[in-house]
Amino acid sequence: MKFNPAKAIHNLKQFGEFGDVNPSITDSSTYTFLKGQTMEETFLGHMEGCFLYSRHWNPSNKYLAEALAAMENTESAWITASGMAAITCSLLQLCSAGDHIITSVTTYGGTYAFLKNWLPKFKIEVSFVNITNLEEVKNSVKSNTKVIYTETVTNPLLQVSNIPELAKIAHDAGALLMVDNTFTPMIFSPAMLGADLVVYSMTKFINGKNDCVAGAICGSADFINKLSNVNDGTAMLLGPVLDPLRSSSILKNLNTLHIRMKQHSKNAQFLAENLINTGLKLTYPGLANHPQHELHKNMMNEEYGFGGMMAIDFGTMENAYAVMQRMQEAGVGYLAVSLGYFRTLFSCSGHSTSSEIPPDVQKKMGLSEGLVRFSVGLDNDIEETLETIKKCL
Ligand SMILES: *Cc1c(COP(=O)(O)O)cnc(C)c1O
Repeated sequence: MKFNPAKAIHNLKQFGEFGDVNPSITDSSTYTFLKGQTMEETFLGHMEGCFLYSRHWNPSNKYLAEALAAMENTESAWITASGMAAITCSLLQLCSAGDHIITSVTTYGGTYAFLKNWLPKFKIEVSFVNITNLEEVKNSVKSNTKVIYTETVTNPLLQVSNIPELAKIAHDAGALLMVDNTFTPMIFSPAMLGADLVVYSMTKFINGKNDCVAGAICGSADFINKLSNVNDGTAMLLGPVLDPLRSSSILKNLNTLHIRMKQHSKNAQFLAENLINTGLKLTYPGLANHPQHELHKNMMNEEYGFGGMMAIDFGTMENAYAVMQRMQEAGVGYLAVSLGYFRTLFSCSGHSTSSEIPPDVQKKMGLSEGLVRFSVGLDNDIEETLETIKKCL
């Protein structure tokens, strides 16, 4: 498999109606029709290239969706106002009362809360498994299983999912594999590895500026058509549309994603290799001691590295807080949630982005209360950053 997501975006040659190098920004919520008949046909979903109303579809979001579909090599894509909207709209489109979902127990806290607390209200059953244990996944399949859900690299423990094997299990069961690739855009192309649906929080690496919240769903044309159907599509009826102004801004940032991912990976690899020697309990998929290091290597688009996410277990919450505060004061980065920013961000997962997960479950899944998740920034002088971090330990 040789696929290059950056080249796929490059080859699109998107430009605006007046030859503008950046496509024009849609500043309209509604669109005129020359004939009543055309409006009716558009409502029925029969008019390719016509726009009706901006909650449904608008040119700015379409440009961005095209670029994301190219990046993932999927037939189609859809833009949402947040990563959570991408995840919830997709799952609610796929599942009805009486259906069953298998998910990794280590997922983003919001996803975990939705699966655990919200879906049972609608009689959708969810099994939480160790996604790296394929036997456990297989044994959890039921006759009503509709979706296997995972993150390519899970939050915050950085376990790597075996996408081809999970796809096989899902497809043998007549289910779909849905993958959240937020941590690893370009590094992995999950659809090329067998996933049916790829979702993103574009808030993170894809946009990379921490100036907005946004999401995306990449999949078959058939699924995206269903999502946007005016009668029963969740993306249409739940209404999580992204503002076109933001969409245009994200499209520009998407075009520098390949450079940023390489630098995030390079910096994180350097810090991981050097900090592990200080005796820290450090997790990074680019280290040979990571349990899925080989799997990561076999699935990745090589030139983008092992990603910008790294976790260090400082044992206790008090230690974690002390180190984080010192690092912030010393200018290493910010004590903040979120990731994929040009500056390094760090937070204590168990007490922030994974706090939706009850303490006993955190313990069982191996999430220590002193675990600090790092999103390594684009620092030009990473050697100096390393020395600063060392002084804070
Ligand atoms: C942030 C995040 C989400 C949620 O995305 P929002 O844009 O905040 O709604 C989902 N999955 C992962 C892995 C995330 O990091």
